[in-house]
Amino acid sequence: MTLDFNHKPSFADRVTEAVDDALTADQATRTPRDYLGGSRLGHACERALQFEFMATPKDDGKEFSGQSLRIFAIGHVLEDLAVAWLRQAGFDLYTRKGNRPDGGQFGFSVAGGRIRGHVDGIVAAGPEGFGLAVPALWECKTMNAKNWRSCVKDGVTKSKPVYAAQIAVYQAYMEAQVPGISANPALFTAINKDTAELHHELVPFDADLAQRMSDRGVRILQATDAGELLPRVTVNQDFFECRFCSWADRCWGAPA
Ligand code: SF4
Repeated sequence: MTLDFNHKPSFADRVTEAVDDALTADQATRTPRDYLGGSRLGHACERALQFEFMATPKDDGKEFSGQSLRIFAIGHVLEDLAVAWLRQAGFDLYTRKGNRPDGGQFGFSVAGGRIRGHVDGIVAAGPEGFGLAVPALWECKTMNAKNWRSCVKDGVTKSKPVYAAQIAVYQAYMEAQVPGISANPALFTAINKDTAELHHELVPFDADLAQRMSDRGVRILQATDAGELLPRVTVNQDFFECRFCSWADRCWGAPA
């Protein structure tokens, strides 16, 4: 028998593993959502969105890792901080109905509840001197330094089309509840997770984008009801999106 003294996990590894085991166990108890998330409609691939909507099991080893779950959780905490900072700066920002902790989140539900979304917040008034048109949708994202820099350089619409699509869809679908929200530019906050730098921009409503995303949602629902699989985004399995897709094995194993 050979004794291996080299691969004993360190104290740090063991603690992280214990945390990640707890997080992944907790995640496994959560019911997968049974609707198409409005925030996801701008994803490059309609087939991937369809897999997501159908709660299709991910390929082996593609479930969220403990680290991914920690990244999501940190993003949520940073978003709460951004709410506090903006309020301190004089933005009248509503994140829950009545701005009460027990008030429900603002959101929408369309297509018989099969497309839904929850908004980060609604700006009811800006600080003096900003001339902010309200009510305005507020959307907050956290990013690593590289993505944040590209967002600052090119703007959210070009650098993060998925977020731009989400903003357009939310502005459109929230209009019935918050009249005027689609007429006014949305306030977008991007937090640099590495440096705590902030980026803000106003995003005008793009009705055409909202319509295209809404049509896309309908297409996904109809194809699913008909038992059809929507086309792949590419003919090349090495395509960027496919390399990171949770259903790549299933997708490329299926007939085109
Ligand atoms: S593997 Fe590629 S084509 Fe297939 S669902 Fe994923 S992103 Fe779409």
